[in-house]
Amino acid sequence: MNLYWSMEEFVYSLPLKIRIPVLHVLRVLGEIEIFLLSHPRKCMAAFGFVLLGGGGGAFALANLGPDAALLPVQIISTPVETLKLTDQASALDLHDLKLFRSEVTRTSDTPESLLRRLAIVDPEAVSFIRKNAMAKDGLGRAGRNISAQANERQQLLSLTTRWLRSENDTVFQRLTIRRGAQGFTASHETAPLVANLQYSGAVVDTSLFAAADEARIPDSVTSQLSDMFSAQIDFHRSLRKGSRFSVVYEALEADGEPLRTGRVLSAEMVNGAKSYQAMWFQEPGQKGEYVSLDGKSLKNTFLAAPVRFSRMSSGFGMRLHPLFGTARPHMGVDYAAPTGTPALSVADGVVEFAGAQSGYGNVVIVKHSASQSTFYAHLSHINVAKGKTVKQGEVVGGVGSTGWATGPHLHFEFRINGQHVDPLTLAKQNTGPSTVASRPSFNKTASLARTQLAFAGQLRESNVQ
Ligand SMILES: [Zn+2]
Repeated sequence: MNLYWSMEEFVYSLPLKIRIPVLHVLRVLGEIEIFLLSHPRKCMAAFGFVLLGGGGGAFALANLGPDAALLPVQIISTPVETLKLTDQASALDLHDLKLFRSEVTRTSDTPESLLRRLAIVDPEAVSFIRKNAMAKDGLGRAGRNISAQANERQQLLSLTTRWLRSENDTVFQRLTIRRGAQGFTASHETAPLVANLQYSGAVVDTSLFAAADEARIPDSVTSQLSDMFSAQIDFHRSLRKGSRFSVVYEALEADGEPLRTGRVLSAEMVNGAKSYQAMWFQEPGQKGEYVSLDGKSLKNTFLAAPVRFSRMSSGFGMRLHPLFGTARPHMGVDYAAPTGTPALSVADGVVEFAGAQSGYGNVVIVKHSASQSTFYAHLSHINVAKGKTVKQGEVVGGVGSTGWATGPHLHFEFRINGQHVDPLTLAKQNTGPSTVASRPSFNKTASLARTQLAFAGQLRESNVQ
């Protein structure tokens, strides 16, 4: 049997558990990446699995692109161990038949109902789970993946579940219940999560979150992406249709089961004619940060927007000034967001004013330098007092609709010598970022990030085509 798939069909037809190791293999095989890099866009790589009946196996890479004859073909073979025929025969013995099933726990679950969904009818197992504290602790929460093994008499042989104690855990908990000669036993272990790289990307059609959803990119990755470029791009206002991004991030796994998302390691955002690349850079014993691939810190004197980009604020479209019925030109930028959404000081500064100003409702003005200040209006509440020092990203108040506003939004102005200027120029007010390019591990990290991003971009392109 000899099957070929296109990269797109092949990689994305795989279940997540298999897709991750496959992508991992691809990453490790540097030659393949170079091969892909040297044939950008048009290259359609394909993978062939050759399954040789009983004798062994091979993993091969072939190219099925239009100019296949001109392209190098690399074959990588690894022997696969096969069971002896006698072992296979005995495994098929009906008396040893083992049934594997998996299920997800529900809030309404009892030990009986959970086991029943796993096609297990075993009163002894039910009473063990009921009495054993470890088993109750492991199975008592909704949303956990359970895998179980049963015999042909629908009796439980073993059951395993894995979970995190808290969101940012670096270790996971594993509960195993086993049937032994003396009845059931339960064991509970703690083991480190394993980080597996995920490569993804998408083209923005309606919104960043919609594009991420389509590519099955978790929200926490999308948020990290908009946060890391928050000094470069105002995602609320300047993200264009057709902009595209690639992202490489960690999936943290427990025995191969992804339990949570880790850190974004590198990302690229192409918005109109501008492109931004960033990677996580951290040397042992030092604080890490996102830097551009030429080593410049992504931090900037000003954030590009005073409201954090999120799924909520991105779907909250308010364009017109409803009190006046038309989209009248006014000095400032309105960021529509639900009431109470944090309004952030876009730069370090000192609070110059905090209080009510008729039409503007609750207002905060932050002075950043002798000539520069920012103005935050219609706030639902104010968090700072006059004279207070604020840091970039500090919450000055909540988005609201005080003053002349019919819907909750933040009216924001950036003023130079009292004159309003387009806040998009904020992103250009850079005062010269620090650089890490001379650090010992910089070149290695940057070249790895380049290769990984190119690969993620390649996957994205093959998805779009
Ligand atoms: Zn306004």
